[in-house]
Amino acid sequence: MGYIGYFTVVTSQDIIKSPYNPRLDSMADRVVRGKILDREGNVLAETEVAEDGSEYRYYPYGEIFAHVVGYSVQGKSGLESTGNFELLTSNAFILEKLKREFQDEKNIGDNVVTTLDVNLQTTAYHALGDNKGAVIVMEPSTGKILTMVSKPSFEPNSVIENWDWLNSDPESILLNRASQGMYAPGSTFKIVTALEYMREHPEDYSAYMYECAGEISYEDTVIPCAGHNVHGTEDLAGSFANSCNASFCNIGMNLDVSGYQSTAEELLIGSKLPGDFATGKSSFRLEKTDSMADKMMTAMGQGKTQVSPYQMALITASIANGGYLMRPYLIDSVTNYTGTIVSETTPEKYADLMTLDESAQLKAYMSDVVNYGTASVLSGQSYTAAGKTGTAEYSMESSDKNHSWFVGFTNIDNPELVISVIVEESDGGRKAVDVAKEVFDSYYY
Ligand SMILES: [Zn+2]
Repeated sequence: MGYIGYFTVVTSQDIIKSPYNPRLDSMADRVVRGKILDREGNVLAETEVAEDGSEYRYYPYGEIFAHVVGYSVQGKSGLESTGNFELLTSNAFILEKLKREFQDEKNIGDNVVTTLDVNLQTTAYHALGDNKGAVIVMEPSTGKILTMVSKPSFEPNSVIENWDWLNSDPESILLNRASQGMYAPGSTFKIVTALEYMREHPEDYSAYMYECAGEISYEDTVIPCAGHNVHGTEDLAGSFANSCNASFCNIGMNLDVSGYQSTAEELLIGSKLPGDFATGKSSFRLEKTDSMADKMMTAMGQGKTQVSPYQMALITASIANGGYLMRPYLIDSVTNYTGTIVSETTPEKYADLMTLDESAQLKAYMSDVVNYGTASVLSGQSYTAAGKTGTAEYSMESSDKNHSWFVGFTNIDNPELVISVIVEESDGGRKAVDVAKEVFDSYYY
């Protein structure tokens, strides 16, 4: 009986949380690992016990949830790692626990109930098709993460058998591209550039005017607009909606670099991001000593700056949410195996990324992208949407294929879903918007 009190009272959760702690093995000797569930109670991971007592961890959705749910072998990953302590702790009723202990039977571990949504995750997974890429869907008002897809994916039901090649795969198949993948932001970074311009010209940014001739040049740097489109006379809203490279390079040439750096920092670029899962650190790279060409490229998202899809989801969530970010999370509650709640996550504010006024202005610019700009495929639906498209070049050699980006949100007046999509090596520039539309459609129709 002694161990019950020992594990529930004496042992520090932090010590036990390390997946390499040998004490966990002794917990696993006493407890059948609990289930990981989606927000409707659908089983994402469960342990099946054979008659001879051997256990097998089973993932009913296979590759669809592989990165976010993770695996419980080979050092563990994903929710199997962050929820390890809870899954190996039993809050079954005390008499039952005692009875099982006297009979030398294992107790049943607690369930980790996630914020994930099987329908949205499955839709996003299939919408990416054969492309590599990632999709994140969040609820901006709470910070709940409903979807986290990364492709290429792997079969979590056979990680041990395939470990050698999984671990050495040149496409970094085990990497969660959604939260750890680093990409040039492309034109989604025009959100950051527009915000910095607004901050430097608080009184008259709406009077900004630019005459786009289809390209901009400075000394021997020539940067064209997409498809060499001549956008003509545009204000800031028009430059944003058209995703006009020439206009944003023009803005970038005159921005205050240290102010630009501070704005990027306030948007959490360069910070360790919040979240109960592994994240990579994005980086804004522009120095005062950099060339004019660097400033132009950075302003249109094609400089040395690197961001994760998750980073862009958080910036978008703060815009949707009136300037502040709710702390993102994946674990909604922990229940004992009969469904009685042991603990629950309460949504809480994480940080102010911008002011309410700034978020309202960016919201309006992002609405115009759907109303008459590069994401007009999202207009005329039963739901309203706003967002920003992007095309990121990743190779000097093959300019016919680019990474396609979209960040946005639905239900503009009271935002419901935030999405961040990257499609790697996409043939068409708008593939990411199409993925977002499939996800939104599955939610609203
Ligand atoms: Zn243009």
